[in-house]
Amino acid sequence: MHVVGAGVIGLSCAIRLAEAGFPVDVLTADAPEDTTSAVAGGLWLPYRAEPADQVARWAARTFDDFLALHRHGSTSVLLRDGLLLHREPAQRPFWADLVGELSGLRRVADPAPGYPFGYALRVPVVDTPRYQSELAAHLRRLGGRIRRARLDVLPPEAIVVNAAGLGARALAADPSVYPVRGQVAVLDNPGLTDWLCDEDEVDGLLTYVLPRRDDVVVGGTAQENDERCEPDREEAAGILRRAQALVPALADARLRWSRVGLRPARPAVRLEAQPSPDGLLVHCYGHGGAGVTLSWGCAADVLGLVLDWTQDGPTGASARSFGA
Ligand SMILES: Cc1cc2nc3c(=O)[nH]c(=O)nc-3n(C[C@H](O)[C@H](O)[C@H](O)COP(=O)(O)OP(=O)(O)OC[C@H]3O[C@@H](n4cnc5c(N)ncnc54)[C@H](O)[C@@H]3O)c2cc1C
Repeated sequence: MHVVGAGVIGLSCAIRLAEAGFPVDVLTADAPEDTTSAVAGGLWLPYRAEPADQVARWAARTFDDFLALHRHGSTSVLLRDGLLLHREPAQRPFWADLVGELSGLRRVADPAPGYPFGYALRVPVVDTPRYQSELAAHLRRLGGRIRRARLDVLPPEAIVVNAAGLGARALAADPSVYPVRGQVAVLDNPGLTDWLCDEDEVDGLLTYVLPRRDDVVVGGTAQENDERCEPDREEAAGILRRAQALVPALADARLRWSRVGLRPARPAVRLEAQPSPDGLLVHCYGHGGAGVTLSWGCAADVLGLVLDWTQDGPTGASARSFGA
């Protein structure tokens, strides 16, 4: 069985499939630590992913699985208090029915200077570069392999999971996939633990501060159809300025580096099985700004589709979908 992609989606799917006893071979153009997933700030928060009902379900499942990893001593999955900040009154998040209680979600007044409205909550924050290595190591312990290859077409295998992120645009000939560029700065952590996220995006500019173990990720940008992979100096200066205004303790923090990732956006996540000439093709891509947040929920559904097919035979695969 081949999984194409070693981002958080490909590796999470590969792990669930390997745990179920499938021999898994991951094919990836980039090392796990060099994917968009390793650039992500790693905050559990549904953002720029659709459809809302499925996203809430996948996010809730992932929340549970992150809690379990945290409890079992993962060094890359943290549990952190934080604030969602708003300048205008904001509706309760759409995922609150499923995760509100678990996260301790509650409305707060004047959470930060300039923000009269907000929510306080406690959610997982994933140290993504470290987590990507942890996922890859776990998969190898389960007997899975990770091989480097940039593919022009999906491999002719009996079971293929397409978790190629933005690469699915070409591999699945899907023009509805598009990049949303995100730039972040990574700083030394001056001792922060709590995260902040301004949810009122203006002109593709975001402000968030995500302390991890020994670094802090500050962001950011969300620029649609922008494929520049190099960090932009002016944008970096703006990101630092906005973050320092929100958290003055960052003023003296050393800048480690700036990073750019291209979020694999799509009008809706594509999580669906279709029969292929060789057997079964399961698509799992288009997670936009929430791939980390949705990873284990989606991986569980991918495993379900594969198990359905292997039990029912090829006919079981016809147009099964967990998407919209
Ligand atoms: C700045 C920024 C901040 C973010 N913050 C968060 C956050 O706080 N929380 C959150 O949940 N999400 C966040 N995201 C979104 C998250 O990073 C993505 O949703 C997630 O990484 C998507 O994972 P993926 O595995 O689908 O794609 P990717 O990580 O891009 O992985 C795609 C994989 O497919 C492989 N591939 C592609 N094409 C080919 C090919 N032709 N042949 C072989 N292999 C191929 C690649 O090499 C790679 O291994 C952020 C994104 C950015 C850019």
